[in-house]
This record gives sequence, structure tokens and C-alpha cells, in this order.
Amino acid sequence: MGLFASVVVGFTFLINLLLGFTAYNNNPKSWTNRLLAILTVILASWTIFNFFALLPGNEATRLFWVRIVMLVTSPMGAVTYLLASIFPKDKFSVSNKKLSVIYAIVLVTAVMSMSPWMFTSLKNLPNENFSLTPGPAIALFAVSHLGLTTLAFIVLIKKFRQSKGRLRFQFLLFLLGNIFTFTLITVSNFVAVVFLGTIQYTFIGPTFTLFLAGFITYAIVKHRFLDIRLFVVRSVTYALLIIVLAFIYAYGFYVIGQLLLPVHSEISEFLITTFLALVMAFSFQPLRRFIQRITNNVFYQEHYDAAQLLGKMGRIMATNILIEPLTAEIIKQLLNNLKISRGAFLLLKNGNLNSKYTDGFSGDILSEKDLQILVTHVSQDKAAADGIVVFEELAEGKIKEVLRKADISVVVPLSSKKELIGLLVLGEKSSGNVYNSEDINFLEILAPELSVAIQNSESYEEIRKFNITLQQEIEKATQNLKAVNQKLKEMDQLKDEFISITSHELRTPMTAIKSYVWMVLNRHADTLTPKTHEYLDRVYKSSDRLIRLVNDMLNVSRIESGRVILTPLKFKLLDLAEDIKREVQARLAEKKQTVTVSAGDPEIMVLADREKVQQVFENLVGNSMKYSPDGSPISIEISADKGFAKVTVSDKGKGIGKDDLSKLFKKFSRVENSQIAPPEGGTGLGLYITKQFVELSGGKIWVESEMGKGSKFIFSLPLA
Ligand code: ADP
Repeated sequence: MGLFASVVVGFTFLINLLLGFTAYNNNPKSWTNRLLAILTVILASWTIFNFFALLPGNEATRLFWVRIVMLVTSPMGAVTYLLASIFPKDKFSVSNKKLSVIYAIVLVTAVMSMSPWMFTSLKNLPNENFSLTPGPAIALFAVSHLGLTTLAFIVLIKKFRQSKGRLRFQFLLFLLGNIFTFTLITVSNFVAVVFLGTIQYTFIGPTFTLFLAGFITYAIVKHRFLDIRLFVVRSVTYALLIIVLAFIYAYGFYVIGQLLLPVHSEISEFLITTFLALVMAFSFQPLRRFIQRITNNVFYQEHYDAAQLLGKMGRIMATNILIEPLTAEIIKQLLNNLKISRGAFLLLKNGNLNSKYTDGFSGDILSEKDLQILVTHVSQDKAAADGIVVFEELAEGKIKEVLRKADISVVVPLSSKKELIGLLVLGEKSSGNVYNSEDINFLEILAPELSVAIQNSESYEEIRKFNITLQQEIEKATQNLKAVNQKLKEMDQLKDEFISITSHELRTPMTAIKSYVWMVLNRHADTLTPKTHEYLDRVYKSSDRLIRLVNDMLNVSRIESGRVILTPLKFKLLDLAEDIKREVQARLAEKKQTVTVSAGDPEIMVLADREKVQQVFENLVGNSMKYSPDGSPISIEISADKGFAKVTVSDKGKGIGKDDLSKLFKKFSRVENSQIAPPEGGTGLGLYITKQFVELSGGKIWVESEMGKGSKFIFSLPLA
């Protein structure tokens, strides 16, 4: 038993106690932490008593220490079993029946271990060795210790097989630590002693507890086993802070006291104390931050410039309006800079999951039920503080269970106008370290800005989707309209065809009627009584009107369907005007009207379809006759100007009102206030057809008229 053994024992003892203390301090209410603390105390006591037993001494003393070793280790199996059953929960959930049995076993073993039935005697051997004579109760110890330890293994293996993710790994570490420690200890300190009768290896025993301590520590540091790392880091920060402050105070008091020595009095002491108290009050916060930064730097190498990163995030939010690139880029930056393993945005609508953007998380991340638990928790928590949920800082419970299952380390609630719009969930740090206060501060500052950016993106997305739907609706409506329009066109064509056919069919019999009546009236007038003559005259005029109406309809139908055929020829306008004058002579005489034809140049020739131009003349002169009182003069003037012939048909009728001028050339436009109602009525098609014929011939038509001052209809035609 040299210095080496003492150091090993001391070291093992301290590590075990430190671990137990830290675990207990982290969460004194948690039975997992409590049992771990108890176990480490047992291990530490066992380490130290084992050391005492091995020290040189008389046989009685050594036997006493051996029995003490047996006493303190008697509950070891039971505690291991209970820890395995409860881990990682806080509540003590072992049935009373089971517990009573365990208590009984432990109690009997403990009592027995102090009796001669466990170890009857001890015999000192050379080289500070000794040999032990076991009694029958050793079997009880073996059964209770090995039995309960084996049960603990079974429980751990079962839990390990049923768990997933980080928890599974933690069980594995726990299991491995246990297996190593207890197997090795059982071999060195039990099997060797009892079956081989040697204590040669007993001193190594305590070292093996370091396996358990080592594995558990690894699990804590790397996999947040029992989640006490943050506590350790914060403890160090505050310990340092207290040391520095105490130093400042003591040193300050000393130095200032020295300076003021000559005037040392109670007053000066009071002044110094007040001054130092003020210094402390003002320096506490900056100092805390400073020390925190130093400890963070020591404990967390992965440092980043928070201000710079915030700037970068701001730019990303300002330049990305679409939700997908925005969330992807934000997560990417967070993962890269804060060295986080995975992250995801869970965006909510009315408290339910609406969309999800993830990097590194697989599957659903959270079940619907778990998400609801988290949302409820965050919504309640929000009023209290910043609302960020940190796994390490949570007490064992439903929320912690949910986060553990989903492998989430931090939850940042995103809310706008007090409404929770989503959650930013982050996995553990890639390095295995915990989130430090700088990270949490950073996320706290980022959260509100991020919430606004995400909500803007969501609104934009909504508008975009609405626009797309709108466009689709418009396209559909346009398609419908096109179809309806096509149908209308077809119907219009059908109508044109109908008019064209019926007009055509009507014209032939009407012309026959008119011709026969004309013959009776002109060739056999002498055989007619005056009454019959009058009646036949009316038949003649009516049939003439009907023919003109049918002709108008036919013309309109041809114009509208683009079937007007023009055969341009050169002819003298004056000749045509004279022809017209002759044609209407009989009707002129009836109304005692006169038509005068004049031409600036009698040779004015145009290139046009003579028949159509004749119809133009007939319409205009006919209208002048119709809408002028009996006996009034009508004139036709022909002139030429700038490549066009111009024909003006004027009358001295009552004229046309200003409001009606624009309507004249439209289809079926009958001007209501025609001062002189034409005896034979009209269709309102004449001027429309006239205008179309003039324009088809390359000319123009317009009217100049004033109420009471007659009308002038002027049209032009290209000169030949
Ligand atoms: P309608 O068959 O009725 O004569 P028009 O198209 O030839 O049809 O003429 C349209 C309307 O223009 C007429 O109803 C009439 O009121 C008016 N109008 C045409 N020519 C004259 C004119 N020379 N003087 C007065 N009113 C006229």
C-alpha cells in the first residue's frame, strides 16, 4: 500500500463524491439524481473503507473494516436496481411490495455483514496480506448483490431495446458503465476473495468504480445525461465571480486602508466600505458578463460574433421574401455558426401545424399530440419570460420527455401580435456541448425579427397563391367567353344567312307583283274604275317599298358578311347625276319639287362601282325629297379637289338636330324629330348602306345641317 494506491483511492473517492454531489444539487427532487448520488456515496465509502481494511493492522481491526466494507456495499445492488428502474424519471415509481422485499434483503444482508456468519475470521499473512474465512451468510450476500445487479442489467437492457435516439445511447452508456464496474469489482473483490482466498487484487477494486463514473461523466458531457453540464458551467461562472468580487473587496479595503492610514478612523472605514459597495454594485453586471464570456470561451470553443451574425440574418430576412429560401437560409446560418446538428421551422395556423421546413430532422419531428403539448407549454410560458425553452433547464416532466423523444434541445417560439405563428426547434450542438447563455441571448434577439419576416413571407405566399388561383379563374372564364362568342358568331351567321335567303326569296315574287300592277295601271288604265285605280296604285307603291326594304336588308346582310362585290369602272359623275334626276322625275312632279344638277367640270370621272354609286345618289336624293316640304328645291353639285370628286346633295328641308348628326349613319337610326314625316316611312338603313358603299369605294361621307336651315350630305370618291 504505497503512495500510488493512496492517490488512486483518494482520487476515486473524490470523483465519486463530486459526481454524486453535482447530480443531487442539480435536481434534489429527482429520484434519478438522488439514487445516483446515493450510489456514488456508497462507492466512495466503499473505496475508503476498503482502503482502511487493507492498511496494516491487527487482525481484529482489519476484520472490523472488512465487515464495514460488507455493510456499506450491502445496499449497492439494490440501489443499482432502483436507479435502473427509475432512470431517467424524477418520480419514485417502484411498487411498495417490491420495495419491501428489497428493504428486507438489504437489511438482512447488512445485519449479517457485521456478524461472524459473513466472515468468520481474518488471518494476517506476510507482506501485509490477509486471508478471510467466509461464513454461510456470504451466500446471502452473493445472492442479494449479484441477483439485484443482474436484475438491474435486465431492466436496463429492456429499456435500452425499447428506447430510441439519444435516450438509447444514454442507456447504453449506463449499462456499459455498470457492466464494467460491477463485473470487475465482483471478480477482484468477491470472487477472488471468496473463492481464491486472496486479497491480492482487492486494492484495485475502487479504481473500477471509475468506469461507472467515467461512463456517466461521458454521457453527461456528450449526451446530456442527467443534464447537469449547464449547471456545472454556471456554477463555475458564479464561483469565479464571487472570488473576483471578494478579491476586489478585500484588496480594495486593504489598499485604500493603507492609503488612509494616517487618518484611520471609524469614519474612514465607513467611507471605504460605502465606496467599495458602490464599486461592487456598478461592476457586478459588467464583471458577470466578462466572466461569463471567459468561461464560455473556455467551455465552448465554437465562438461566433453574435452582432455580426445578427447583421447577416437581417440581410437574409430583407432579401428573401419566399418562405422556402428564407427558412432554409436561416437554418443553414444557425447550424453553421452556432454549430448545431439540426434545425427546423414548424409553422402553425390556428395552433396546428401548417408547414414544416427542416434541415437534419427526419420524419414528423413531433407527433401531433406532442406538438400540442409543446405549443400549450410555450404559449403559457411566453408571458413569463422570453419563452425560449432549453432542454437542460427543464425539470423532468412531460415537456422534457417530448423534447427528448424528438431530439430537440432548444425551442424558440415565434409570435406576432401575441399570436404564436410557429416554433424554431433546434437539435443538440454538433460538439455535444450545451447551448450557452450567448446562444440563448442571440436567439432571443433574433426571434421577434424572424417572426415578422416569416409572417411577411407567409402573407406573400398567400397572395401569390391567390393570384395563381385568380389567373386560373380568369383563364377559365375567358375560355367560356370564347366558346360563347364562337357560338354567337355562328348564330349571327345563321341569322345573316336566313335574312339573305328570305330576302332573296321575297324579292322575286314582289318584283312580279309590282310589274303586273304597273302593267295594269299603265296599259289598261281605261278599263279601271277610279276606285280600282286608286287601290292598285297603293298596291304598286307598297310593293315598291317592300322591294326597297328587302333590297336594303340584302345589302346590309352582304355588307356585314363581307360579301359586297365591287366592280370598279370609270364613269362620268355628271351623267349618273342626270340619270338619277330623270329617274325621280315622276316623284318630283308629284311633290312639285325640283332637282338642279351642276358640275364645276362636267368631265369629272371617278373609278367606282357605278351601281353602288347610283344607290348612294338614290338614297341621298330620295332622303332630300322625303324630308323636304312640297315645292322645295334640291340641288346636286359636283366638284373635284385633291384627287377626289365631291358630290353635295342639298335641300331646304328643316334639317337635322346637332344631337342626331352623329347617329345618322348608324344601322336602324331613325331620327325621331324628322320635321316632315315621310309618307312612305323608312327603315333607318339607307344612310348606313350609303356610308358603307362610299367607304368601300375609297371615299368619305359627312353631313352639314342645322335645324330649320336644310341639310347638306357630301360624299367623296377617288378620281379616275
Ligand atoms: P330612312 O329609311 O328612315 O330614311 P335613312 O338612313 O335614309 O333612313 O335616314 C336616317 C334618318 O336621317 C331619317 O330617318 C331622317 O330622320 C334623317 N335624314 C336623312 N336624310 C335627311 C334629310 N335630307 N333631311 C332631314 N333628315 C334627314
